[in-house]
Amino acid sequence: MPRSLPRWLVIGCLEFLFWGPFCIIPFVAKLTVGEAIWRTDVLSCTLMSAALAVAGSYFGRFQPGYRIAVFPVLALGSLIVTGIVASKQGLLDASAMLAIIDTDASESAEFLSHYSAGDFALAVFLLLPLATLVVQARRGLFLPRLRYAGRVLVALLVVQLGVRSVHRYAYARSENRPAAETLGMLPDDLITYPEHYIPLQPYLAALSAVQMRHQLAALARTASPIAGARALDPAGGATRSYVIVVGESLTRRHMHLYGYTRDTTPALDALAAAGQLLAYRHVVTSHAMTVPALSAAFRFEPGRGQDGHTIFDLLNGAGFKTYWVSNQYEYGLYEAYDSAVSMMTAAASQTWLNQPLGSGGAYAERRNFDADVLPELRKLLVRKEQDKVIFLHLMGSHYYYPSRYPPSYEYFRTPASSGCRSPAQRQTIDEYDDSVRYNDWVIDQIIRTVRAAGDDSFVLYFSDHGEEVYDYRDYAGHTDTMMSPYLAEIPFVLWLSDEYRRQHSESVARLAEAGERGYITSELLYGIADLARLTFPGMDPARSIFSEHYVERPRIAAGRDYDRWVQSWAPDAAHSAPSRLLDCGDKVASAPATR
Ligand SMILES: [Zn+2]
Repeated sequence: MPRSLPRWLVIGCLEFLFWGPFCIIPFVAKLTVGEAIWRTDVLSCTLMSAALAVAGSYFGRFQPGYRIAVFPVLALGSLIVTGIVASKQGLLDASAMLAIIDTDASESAEFLSHYSAGDFALAVFLLLPLATLVVQARRGLFLPRLRYAGRVLVALLVVQLGVRSVHRYAYARSENRPAAETLGMLPDDLITYPEHYIPLQPYLAALSAVQMRHQLAALARTASPIAGARALDPAGGATRSYVIVVGESLTRRHMHLYGYTRDTTPALDALAAAGQLLAYRHVVTSHAMTVPALSAAFRFEPGRGQDGHTIFDLLNGAGFKTYWVSNQYEYGLYEAYDSAVSMMTAAASQTWLNQPLGSGGAYAERRNFDADVLPELRKLLVRKEQDKVIFLHLMGSHYYYPSRYPPSYEYFRTPASSGCRSPAQRQTIDEYDDSVRYNDWVIDQIIRTVRAAGDDSFVLYFSDHGEEVYDYRDYAGHTDTMMSPYLAEIPFVLWLSDEYRRQHSESVARLAEAGERGYITSELLYGIADLARLTFPGMDPARSIFSEHYVERPRIAAGRDYDRWVQSWAPDAAHSAPSRLLDCGDKVASAPATR
């Protein structure tokens, strides 16, 4: 060590070199992909690093051991955040973490293979703290015990929270909201403070994801038919065979049926033109991830009288046999664990068509096409002795898009002149649109199959959430933290059999009148109950899009009032974070208008 430098300065620099990289490396990754760095991230990173350093100084000669124990935890967390940022998938929240836990091993391996070596080059700098530690250990250059540092850190935390409260107070006033809200947010700020410490984010997200899984497991345990649920119509008519198709990752902004310029939905267009399809134009999802979106759609919100129950319990209670036929996975990353969706749908009789590949199989090679649900559907429709509701869960347009349709369904090739996107981005859009066109064919085949059975039937199709494919920013995928109209706006279409129209002629007219209503899938179980013509203790027609008593209320998507938010939404730089805005000129402006 050069003798000219004071000892406290040398120690200060070494401390910084040990604690700094865990935050600085993700920040650099953020800057390189154009993601915003929040002031709270910087403040909490500084304060938490200082707190950890001061805590370490109390360990005396055990400081090297303390740092060796802390290093892998912080380095791994920081590495995960850096990787997620480099993949431009937005922040890692609990539901994104749940999706990672829930995908099977081959899918996760496939996801990781999308990173280039360059994405991880930054991670080499994470070895800097380790090198620093060696120097500190050899020369005994650790922080001495700091008598008043703890008090200083607490004072700093109080000041930070104070500034934050003042800022929130001013914001509430500018929005004409009660200033008392600001006080209520303070405990939340304190609890979520470590969430902004970047190296801890993946662990905290994993903890929340495990809690969500526990809630769903509890739902599976309490599954039982709801007492007092009953069909409104007298028994003895035609067999009731209701079909609910749960789609995957389909935004209505890529459907010709809803105004997209490409011919992605020829079959649904034809059905609509013939007056056989009702297309609801203003339905959004509550979350841009499968599990939170479907659990909001299928389970009763606490406090509505049927806690711990699901739509399946309701239908079972009303005398229907319920089936869950899935082309998605039964198991998560570890085969011993059921996937979240399989726990959520435990009350239905389940059929899983898509089983894990053997070892060494790549996710992209797994080509169970959604047409596989058709033979299962036919098998169930033959059973005329019991009224039933059949849920079909499709792979839809989930990434990896080319694995969703047979090669014979390749259809779209963008003209080379569309210059605002890279050739790879244009190819991805083509592949996505091909999957939309194949999905259109599958839905049509489902409707034809149900029509051929001749029962009292409806087919309701909706997608769990939307998808973005380089529509206005350098981003493809779906997650709550990247919420946009492309992710929120979903298709919601209804087909009715002749027998349904004959049996329930009085209600068919009001089903058609609901096409322009705003609806959110977190109210869906009331809509399904209405459509299936049943009632139960706690039925609320004001929450059914199909009811004449329907009342539009604030639609909360990804924690925000969607209608208020979308009014200010534009495909501009302010809404492109964390991905860069694509410079597509007026192509961006030609996106279908929102309500
Ligand atoms: Zn999904």
